[in-house]
Amino acid sequence: MRASLNDEHVSGAEEIVVDDEIDDTVSSMTARAMNHPRETPDSVEISIEEIEQKPERSDTVDVVTVETSSLKESHATARSILQEHISKEATERGFEILRSETTMRGAAVVDSETGERLEPDESRGVRTSYVGTTDEGKEGLEECIHDAGLGGTRVKDAVVLSTKTQWVEGTVGEICWSDNPGYKPGYVAVDATYFRFPRMKPDGSSGGRVYFVSPDTDLNSYIDSLETTPFLVDGVSDFYSIKPKELDKYV
Ligand code: AMP
Repeated sequence: MRASLNDEHVSGAEEIVVDDEIDDTVSSMTARAMNHPRETPDSVEISIEEIEQKPERSDTVDVVTVETSSLKESHATARSILQEHISKEATERGFEILRSETTMRGAAVVDSETGERLEPDESRGVRTSYVGTTDEGKEGLEECIHDAGLGGTRVKDAVVLSTKTQWVEGTVGEICWSDNPGYKPGYVAVDATYFRFPRMKPDGSSGGRVYFVSPDTDLNSYIDSLETTPFLVDGVSDFYSIKPKELDKYV
């Protein structure tokens, strides 16, 4: 699904489903497009495509909520997690991209050592696509999200996207906060672990996603794998909360 207003991107989503779930999925995608909290689109495109390649499968990344109490603490903790794997320069580049006023359809790709921005089209970014859940993966994830009191589909969607992104060879880390002005949480992910922060989005920031890649990554095959390899989440890994001071045990 792609929704836009005056040719500007508003929202996008996708699912991998079996044939008899197509009708329900089309109608939930339409509702999702039309009820976007930021803007009501004037164009919604929904396309349906048969997947021939057998999807890759994996459990989710580990999901850790870091119970920070302020934006400042979230950003400081997120920086220290990223900098275990990514240079200071690249980390700051990531924050700068997310704080900018530009809205992208996908993620920026940044060299994890030099901080150089690499994706061919900066207004589009790269998209983690052809990703979905098996019934067991979906139920398990929804149950964990419900038990953790996180609610809604946003966390589910973000964990599924991150699981594929972390699986793709070349990804060293990720940072994301939403472009929805009212949605303040965000995450960083490294080493197949997704660290969620309850307050991550600064007021007035446009939001976005950044993928940090190792310097020797072949960009074409990286983007190809992100955008075209079918991938299903079929189970849940660990799902828990920690205080920021307990972080040393986990990174
Ligand atoms: P959201 O969490 O849906 O508000 O998305 C936040 C940002 O992530 C968007 O502004 C896009 O820049 C980026 N984004 C959304 N979907 C994808 C995707 N499938 N792959 C890569 N980046 C995405």
